[in-house]
Amino acid sequence: LTLPRARRTDPPAVDEVVAGLWAIRLALDNPLLRHVYVYALELDGGGIVLVDAGWDGDDVFGQLADGLAVAGLAFSDVRGIAVTHGHPDHYGLVGRLREAVDPWVAAHRLEAGVIETRRAGLRRLTEQMAGWLRGQGVPEDEIVRSLQPRPYIREFVAVDAPTRLLDDGSGLDVPGWDLVTIPTPGHTAGHVSFHERRCGVVLLGDHLLAGAPTSIPLLPQSGPDPLGSYLEALARVEALGDIPGLAGHGARVGSVGARAREAISHHEEQLERTLACVGGLDTVWAIARRFPFTRPWDGMEGFVRRAAINEVHARLVLLEHRGLVRREGETPQRWAVS
Ligand SMILES: [Zn+2]
Ligand SMILES: [Zn+2]
Repeated sequence: LTLPRARRTDPPAVDEVVAGLWAIRLALDNPLLRHVYVYALELDGGGIVLVDAGWDGDDVFGQLADGLAVAGLAFSDVRGIAVTHGHPDHYGLVGRLREAVDPWVAAHRLEAGVIETRRAGLRRLTEQMAGWLRGQGVPEDEIVRSLQPRPYIREFVAVDAPTRLLDDGSGLDVPGWDLVTIPTPGHTAGHVSFHERRCGVVLLGDHLLAGAPTSIPLLPQSGPDPLGSYLEALARVEALGDIPGLAGHGARVGSVGARAREAISHHEEQLERTLACVGGLDTVWAIARRFPFTRPWDGMEGFVRRAAINEVHARLVLLEHRGLVRREGETPQRWAVS
């Protein structure tokens, strides 16, 4: 994910996208992620609902307060938070906001499970991931390297459970707006986007970003075929047509339909490249080592390599569903062209 660098000293960028819908950009002190957007919708009768809640931390919480103030708003206005998914850059401030003002917190039913695994704690999450990587033939030294805790990783654990569970097509309690839940799984199992039907805009979370493809990893909590689910979700979003999208990171998406089509062709190309890397009975690790990543393998940080391995794994599972590859064995699993 490559995003324009935002300096921490920058004031939060606050922009009224349409009357009563504010985009608040929060700068992050994270080498992999320079900023995240929180969107605020002003309600008929007073108050606001936030879509996503930024990263946990004193500095980011302060930036959100400043950003709301620029819009003439305050934490005391927050009635609810609708989250696209449970990643710490979108869910992080939910706990602090609940302590401060106790808003409702809505997430998809399936995402509540993803959030629960984070609540279970970093240690369990790390052990689970180590076993998962072992099953893909990843060597022990690489597993240790890829699970090295980073200073910002501890933010993964401070989370509260959602108070309202959304299903596919659920409406949201956002007076003055017509917001409906579009299931957009793939990046996480219960990722959703919110289609605002009155003015015609989609709040995308990480489903589609203007500047980079979304990461679709296979993980213990990701569902059986995340890339297959993602491609189906892209078709649903493509059907919304030429309306703009507001993403969690980066520039606005001019047309969600056009961007969804680009994402579909990107992933189809990556599927072909992955298939070309499968030889005779290889582990996911061996196939990932051969994959022509745009960044050199040796220059990737452990965390980035781990994501790369999980993405290759997700593609192999979809190729298996299409009857193009098969797998054998358990620990490690091995893959061959069928
Ligand atoms: Zn995410
Ligand atoms: Zn994100």
